[in-house]
This record gives sequence, structure tokens and C-alpha cells, in this order.
Amino acid sequence: MKKEIEKELYKLTHNAVKGAFTPNDFEGICKEMNVVKMYYDLEFDSDGYRGLSDGDEDPSKYRLFELYSEEGVESGIIKKYTFYFETNEYVHAWIEFRKDVKEDEIDEELCSFLADVIYILISRQNMRTMLDFSETHDAQTGIMNLKSLGAKYMQSIAHYPEVEYVVLYANVKNFKFINDRGGVHLGDLAIAKLAQKLQEFIREDEGVCRVGGDNFAMYVRRDNLDVILNRLKIVQVDGLMGLRNNSHRFSFRVGVSDTDIREFGTKLEEASTACIVGKTILKKDLVVFNMELSEIISHNNQIIAAFPDALAAGEFVPFFQPKVNMHTGELLGIEALCRWLHNDSIIAPSEFIPLLDRKGMIHDLDMVMLVETCKCINKWQKMGLKVPIVSVNFSKKNIFIPEIEKKIITAIRDNNVNTSMFEIEITETAKESEIGRLIDFVRILKENGFKISIDDFGTGYSSLSLIHNINADEVKIDQSFIRKLGRDEKSLILIESIVSIANRLNMQIIAEGVENTEEGKMLMKLGCDNAQGYYYGKPVDFEDMTRLLKNPDFKALV
Ligand code: C2E
Ligand code: MG
Ligand code: MG
Repeated sequence: MKKEIEKELYKLTHNAVKGAFTPNDFEGICKEMNVVKMYYDLEFDSDGYRGLSDGDEDPSKYRLFELYSEEGVESGIIKKYTFYFETNEYVHAWIEFRKDVKEDEIDEELCSFLADVIYILISRQNMRTMLDFSETHDAQTGIMNLKSLGAKYMQSIAHYPEVEYVVLYANVKNFKFINDRGGVHLGDLAIAKLAQKLQEFIREDEGVCRVGGDNFAMYVRRDNLDVILNRLKIVQVDGLMGLRNNSHRFSFRVGVSDTDIREFGTKLEEASTACIVGKTILKKDLVVFNMELSEIISHNNQIIAAFPDALAAGEFVPFFQPKVNMHTGELLGIEALCRWLHNDSIIAPSEFIPLLDRKGMIHDLDMVMLVETCKCINKWQKMGLKVPIVSVNFSKKNIFIPEIEKKIITAIRDNNVNTSMFEIEITETAKESEIGRLIDFVRILKENGFKISIDDFGTGYSSLSLIHNINADEVKIDQSFIRKLGRDEKSLILIESIVSIANRLNMQIIAEGVENTEEGKMLMKLGCDNAQGYYYGKPVDFEDMTRLLKNPDFKALV
């Protein structure tokens, strides 16, 4: 090797080990070797060559590293060395010589050695860059990670002490839809594209990062908050193959921290609390943090903590509410509704059922309610009372409990009740991931003598298309429609169509939440004859239901 080249190579290696490359580092060696251009590029096998010789596309786009280029000088012989190769990826080193250099003047061995050495140095530097990047960025989306967002926030408040910043915690609504439709790959792509969009929304001194999953954190100037919130209502993302028009309109559920606290971690905690409470309790897309939210959360935590002991202590009992044929006054059935008897007070299900459902604890409660209801039926039967069919509510979470049908059947048989005494109430679903399982659940229970009722009908999304797939015996029109009867034309139309479809599918139909004769009569006119509601009686305890069963005397509504 020429002494000068050797010296340049030493220098290059030494510099590369000390720190990062600069184009200057290659100048010496390239000049010594009559090289006018040196670069490394990338090739993918499967989807075609994406390296330099790729047709009309600008080749520099795919250049991994341009190490040296002598402006305005034409090249002659070009040497290519291929290195890295893993299934379908290659890295090529390209060395272009001055036009007047002849083949026999090129030291092949030296060129190959040079390409090797430089490749090793580049790989090392590349790895370091990647490590630095992954320290501060989210790998999937390429935007900042939480750690750098916190650091950037500190910089912003230090730079602009007069500016007030608010922190946002934003969760994509119904992101599961994308994964359900297009699989995880589409989900990954969508989240990356969304992240890029969010980044376009913010100003230079503001920041956004992905916290994980479909959650993002942001901080923005207070005077920019409304603009940002508005933009988060609809974010259109294109290029999502497999979806309608290859695009999707996302919207966000947002929690905002606008308190006096300046510390980033606390603000983010407040914003995420607000977002979670919005999603799970308040059912609102925008919630601004205040202390009451913390109280809600601590109240919920108390419920969760108290639940196992309360369950073991028998504090959960069924109350019963009659289902009546309005035409005849006949008692058709009773629904068991859970009550928590705690410290001499009765806690209503709205306080704990949705919470237990979210926390995955509802199955235990539903099984206990089933057994408690069996005990009540036993007692009534021993008293010689005629017991109508009894409805029990089962959360949809149950359908994913292994062998749930067997568990339900065994629990009932162990308590010496016939399965035909029971109707299972379950709410509808629109989720593709649930429909198949729900259909099986209903089928197996029906094969074992149960009746099935679809509760709160009309509040989900699936509605009419679903009842035809699920072979239920009854649909229960949700009480929200009954509330709007007489005021809202849409409710009338909806009830009419539910009735007509249910009739055609041979399903019973019942309205829940009927409170007065007007509602009852209107329903009958629409073809719905059965009702459950305060008009016929509120849910009552075992003793009161016993009295009612001894003497059910509902009047016919005419
Ligand atoms: P649901 O199954 O749709 O039950 C009907 C709810 O409407 C009951 O509320 C009932 O008390 C109420 N209701 C009945 N008639 C009227 C009326 O005329 N006016 C008004 N305003 N309300 C009426 P409740 O007992 O508070 O139960 C609420 C929900 O909690 C139930 O809705 C059900 O989804 C759930 N739930 C109750 N017990 C259980 C249980 O053991 N397991 C599960 N998984 N869920 C249960
Ligand atoms: Mg129900
Ligand atoms: Mg209901």
C-alpha cells in the first residue's frame, strides 16, 4: 500500500473511533486514490432494486452514506462492493474513479480493503446513531418519546417563562377497528401516520410524543389549545390500504391539564386521569382535569378494593322486577337485578357494574348473582309458588371465560333448578371479534334449555343486522327510546322497525323502562305488547317479590 494511503487510512480510522465522520475525513484518501465519489447505498431484493441504478428515481434518495464527492468532476470506472446481506437487504459500497484512471491503475485489493474498513466504521457509527435515536424517539412512529417530550417541555418553559402551556393526553377512539380490519400491520402504519399528522399540528416550542399503544401526550400553548382540540376532532389519514378509500378519519378522546402546576409529570398524570375518566365514566371526548376527577378515581379504587370481601360476605343480592304483558296483565317473567347491600345502604349497579366490567371482575359477580337467584327460585318453589321465567344479566365479558356455558349450567344444576327457568340477558355487540363467540354462546345455552334476550337493544351499533345472526328469543328495546317516545319521530320509526323485524324473526319483544300508561299505550300501538318498568313496579327484594308472586294482579292496559 502506498505510504500516503496508509497514513490516510490510519487517520480515518482514528477519527472514526474518536467521534463521528465528516466528509472531510474522506477527502485525503479519495484524493490519494483518484476517487471522485464514494458512497454506500441500500438494496432490497423483494420489491425491486432501490439502489443507485434504479431507473429515473433520484438515486440520492436511497443513498445510505455519501462519503465523498468532488464537485463537477466526471467519473470513469466505478467499482461496487456488496456487503451486508440478510434475506433481502444489501449494502453496496460504490467507488467512482476519475475519468482518466485506467483499469490496470486500480489496486483491486486495496479498494476492497478500503470498502471493508469503511463499512465497519460506518456500521459502528450507524448503530450509535440508532441507539441515540431510540433513546429519544418512539421506534414505531419516529416521533419523540415521553422522555424527550418532558425535556423539551422544560426547555420551552425555561425559554418562554411568560407563556402558559397546557398538557394533553389524547387517546385514539376506536383504534381497534383498524387492527380488526387490517391486522396489526395496518395498525402500525396508521399509528405512525397519525403521529406524523399530530406533529404537523404543533408549533416549534410545543411538543407531541407517543406514550404507547394508541395514546399520545402533547403540550401546547394555552392560546393554541382550542385550535388543537378542534383539529383532534377529525384527523384524516390516507394511504391505509384495505380500508374504504384507503383512508380513515380518526378522532381523539382528550384529557387536558390546565392547572397551575408546572411540573410536567404531574400535569401529564392529570391529563391522563381526565382522559380515562372521560372514556370510562363521563363518556365524554373532552375532559379538563379538576380535583373532583381524582375523587371519582379514588372512590372507584375503594369499590374495587372492597369488592372481593363484599362478594364473600354475601353483600350482593338480587332484586326482582316484573315483566308484564300489557294487553292481558299477565306476569311473563321477572328480571334479577343486582344490589349491593353495604353498611345499611343499597348501592345501585350503575355505581359498580360498569367499573367491575372494565376491571375484568364482573364474571365473579354474575356467577354469584346466578347462584343467589337459584336460591330464591328454590325457596319460591318450596313455598309452592308459580315462578315465571327469571332473567339474569350476563356481561359480555363472560363469553370469553373458558367453558362459560358449562359453568353456568353446572351452577344451576348444583342448585337444583332447571335451566329452562332462566333467561340470559346479554347486550348486543358490533365488534367482529365478539360476534362469533356470542353466536356460539347463545347457541349452546339455547341447546341446553335457556332462553336468550338481547338487552338494551338499539344502543349498540350492530342492531338490526345482528339480531338476525343471533338466534335470541327476545329483544329488549332500550329505555332511552321509551323516554323519547312522543317527542322524537326517530324513536317511533326505530321501535316500529324493531317490532317488525322481531315479528318476522319470531322473536318476543319487550320495552324496558315503561313508566306510565301513555308510554304503554303508544308501545302497544307500535306493536310492542310486553313491558318492564316502574309502571308495573320497581325492582324489589326477595320478600316483596314473594308477596307479588303470591298475588300477581296487573291490570290489562286498554
Ligand atoms: P338492565 O339490565 O337494562 O336493567 C334495566 C335497568 O333499568 C335497571 O336498572 C332497572 O332498575 C331500570 N329500570 C327498570 N324500569 C325502569 C323505569 O321505568 N324507569 C327507569 N328510569 N329505570 C327503570 P338497575 O337495576 O340500576 O341496573 C342497571 C344495569 O346494571 C342493568 O340494566 C344491567 O345492565 C346491569 N346489571 C344489573 N344487575 C346485573 C348483574 O347481576 N350482572 C350484570 N352483568 N349486570 C347487571
Ligand atoms: Mg337487563
Ligand atoms: Mg336494559
